[in-house]
Amino acid sequence: MSTSVYSRLEPLLPRVSRPVQYLGMEVNSQVKDWESADVRWCLMYPDAYTVGASNQGLGILYEILNERDGFLAERTYSIWPDLSALMRENGIPQFSWETCRPVRDFDILGISLSTELGCTNVLEALDLAGIPLHAKDRSESDPLVIIGGHCAVNPEPMADFVDAVVLGDGEEAVLEISRIVREWKQASPIADGGLGLVDGSDLSPEVTAPGSRVDLLVRLAATGMVYVPSLYDVAYGDNRAITSVTPNREGVPSLVRKWTLTDLDAWPYPKKPLVPVAETVHERYSTEIFRGCLRGCRFCQAGFITRPVRERSIDSIGDMVECGLKATGYEEVGLLSLSTADHSEIGPLMHGLTSRYAGTNVSLSLPSTRVDAFTIDIAEQLSRNGRRSGLTFAPEGGTERMRRVINKNVDEADLLGTVEAAFTQGWRSVKLYFMCGLPTETDGDVMAIGDLARKVIDSGRRISGRRDVTCTISIGAFVPKAHTSFQWAEQCDPAVANRRMRDLKQSVREDRRYGRAIMVKWADALPGQVEGLLARGDRRVGAVIEAVWRDGGLFDGWSEHFSFERWERCAREVLEPMGVSLEWYTTRERGRDEILPWDHLSVGMDRDWLWDDWVDSQSEVSVGDCRWDGCMDCGVCPFLGVSIQIGPTGRTLSNV
Ligand code: SF4
Repeated sequence: MSTSVYSRLEPLLPRVSRPVQYLGMEVNSQVKDWESADVRWCLMYPDAYTVGASNQGLGILYEILNERDGFLAERTYSIWPDLSALMRENGIPQFSWETCRPVRDFDILGISLSTELGCTNVLEALDLAGIPLHAKDRSESDPLVIIGGHCAVNPEPMADFVDAVVLGDGEEAVLEISRIVREWKQASPIADGGLGLVDGSDLSPEVTAPGSRVDLLVRLAATGMVYVPSLYDVAYGDNRAITSVTPNREGVPSLVRKWTLTDLDAWPYPKKPLVPVAETVHERYSTEIFRGCLRGCRFCQAGFITRPVRERSIDSIGDMVECGLKATGYEEVGLLSLSTADHSEIGPLMHGLTSRYAGTNVSLSLPSTRVDAFTIDIAEQLSRNGRRSGLTFAPEGGTERMRRVINKNVDEADLLGTVEAAFTQGWRSVKLYFMCGLPTETDGDVMAIGDLARKVIDSGRRISGRRDVTCTISIGAFVPKAHTSFQWAEQCDPAVANRRMRDLKQSVREDRRYGRAIMVKWADALPGQVEGLLARGDRRVGAVIEAVWRDGGLFDGWSEHFSFERWERCAREVLEPMGVSLEWYTTRERGRDEILPWDHLSVGMDRDWLWDDWVDSQSEVSVGDCRWDGCMDCGVCPFLGVSIQIGPTGRTLSNV
């Protein structure tokens, strides 16, 4: 019988910062009956509550599981060091936000890993929960630890710490996993109250017998869509690269594929998103208007791993917005996707929503928008209720040459035309996002970003007739990621990237003609090198994560907690005896034949297609978008048995 730890936690809360973040009690949170649930999930976002509470992916899975009979989901987040120290002192384990039950009492701990720098927080949560750090040490009373989310497409650095990994869309995956766990529990003579037997690495007949933990892992792996790292052996060659990754049991597939939702309209979530009592990063109702992106930006992991494009129909979006606003009381609607203005009916959708909510305080917002898809009409709709939230465009590269290399097919005229549309509609400031350290980049490519910003200001001043026009350049270091065309690329030395970004800022600051009209905000490239290590690392990198965590590394996504010195030192101590290094994983270009740590995990992209695209990038050859230019044979649709789903459908929004 599981019990709450709240009575022991409560006296500690006045002694820590922001205690309200640990209380849960959000509007729309749910508490289901513990005893009548067959399968109990604790869903975790491995960062502070203020960041994780608005994570939409986790919120969607929470609703889906709690809607189904027999399944139950609660949530947990990373606990700040002030409270976790007190919890350790008082023997209080990591708990769920809904009922303060120990995380260890759930059947499954499902972790959404959307940033590499959250890895140490996962280890901290496991330890605080009293769950053995290594999957091989877990016993019959430990939950199954599963990760998903964008970082899970290369889970190898976390392979020692997780039992299973889900690639791709989570909606159907959590239900199928729940079904398998329920069946296994019901059939199991030994699983009552726990999830298996002993050491997962021991494959003796007793351990793999029906009802054992390994039996469950094999059942999950046999779907071909749940990756169980302990069921694969990795071998390395004399050159330190991987020579093979092979299943170590019968019935375990050699290639694991991702989950892909084929009808977004059938999954209209979130219906009732959580409204936190504590302040969080985003306070708006957001709906994903399509999933996937086919623009083919070569650096963009999110674009490649979510192919193909699947649009939600505008009437379904309209219904979701109405239901979401009613359920939350929010007054801002975010229309999310990787490239929102590319929805085939974005015009009718925005007109419909602005008309429906005319005379109310409801406003629309779009995330960063492609410069070539933004139109005067969109600008008008965004400003119809008088509010003009910030406009962000992401040209990513400062020169047309650079943009051809990354396949961001936007020319300078497109960019200037777009900002002119915004200035015509009354905007006075725009934000432009760029990356530094891209393949083939020169100092000149980065300095050209300043020239582009100057042209933006000139055009804004000309159109508005005013001098208070501003342009913020936001620039960060590029990190090559798995499953992209740049997965073979050498990552730029962080010292070089930092020098280029510093020089850009200096040159803009020294240009007195523009005074404070242009601001340059750049992010240190050093965390990017750690991200690079984790994004393209193999299983050997797991020991670095553990060493960093044991050395006190936590909340690495927060600049005040991140220590490059610690990561560099731990990487040196752990990796050098194995003949590899931080640089070996990051600033080294890979060859075509090298087995990459994630080659046995498929998001559907054809490896040869990606390689050809990598070669094309170096010759500055562009590739089109299959929504308009025909199929480019990237392999996703035939491999996954799906197809792109786009409108226009001609449907209209109801007026409610
Ligand atoms: S297989 Fe063809 S249609 Fe499908 S996503 Fe790839 S390029 Fe587009």
